[in-house]
Amino acid sequence: MPRILVTNDDGVYSEGLRKLAAALQPIGEILIVAPDREQSAASHALTLNRPLRLLQLEKNEWIVDGTPTDCVNLGVLKLMKDDRPDIIVSGINYGPNLGDDVTYSGTISAAFEGSLLHIPSVAFSATVGEHFSFDRCADFAARLVVRLLDAAPEPGIILNVNFPVGEFAGVRITKLGRRIYTEGIVERLDPRGRSYFWIGGGAPSWQPQEGTDFEAIESGHVSITPLHLDLTHHESIPRFKPLEAILGGPAQK
Ligand code: MN
Repeated sequence: MPRILVTNDDGVYSEGLRKLAAALQPIGEILIVAPDREQSAASHALTLNRPLRLLQLEKNEWIVDGTPTDCVNLGVLKLMKDDRPDIIVSGINYGPNLGDDVTYSGTISAAFEGSLLHIPSVAFSATVGEHFSFDRCADFAARLVVRLLDAAPEPGIILNVNFPVGEFAGVRITKLGRRIYTEGIVERLDPRGRSYFWIGGGAPSWQPQEGTDFEAIESGHVSITPLHLDLTHHESIPRFKPLEAILGGPAQK
């Protein structure tokens, strides 16, 4: 039986994680290692400035008082250290993780952490709205995981999977879309007259562009985007190359 590590950023009690683990049950040996509370937008944070606790809830279920990245590390390097997982599955997140927003995502970062540990990893996120169903998404997720166990992506590549709200019109292999950022800070006054702030006011909108994850979701398709951690902008290297000589020599007053 393949060994499957399941994590998320919505916390251990989230419906998306429960449905995902249940759908994966027939195809592998499941170990859930998830945050003890919601960690959405935790990004790739790793807890280094305080101790972490690992608490067992059930035979195959553990919680961590930390981030999704902490969960993957403790899952792989502690709980499964003698018999590493064959795949790491993150989600199913409540809400999509598309385009420029992927770097905020704890769901996706858990998968990236898996890839850093040389384990095939996949992240699942569901757009939420009328006729939305975690069951439908979990069913698809299990079918994809079977494929990935058979033919894993090359090391360092993760799959970012997003589900549309309703019935699936099909599947699209996509690139990341571009978000149109709106003025995102909402300022209010508390009862004592002091300001407080909420980040992220309006609903996100996206540049219409063919082949993107956003377009796939808009047209009712499941979006699968292969991602890697290398953020290098290779085309810019020649442009900045002269700085090596200009700034690399003795300092000029
Ligand atoms: Mn989340």
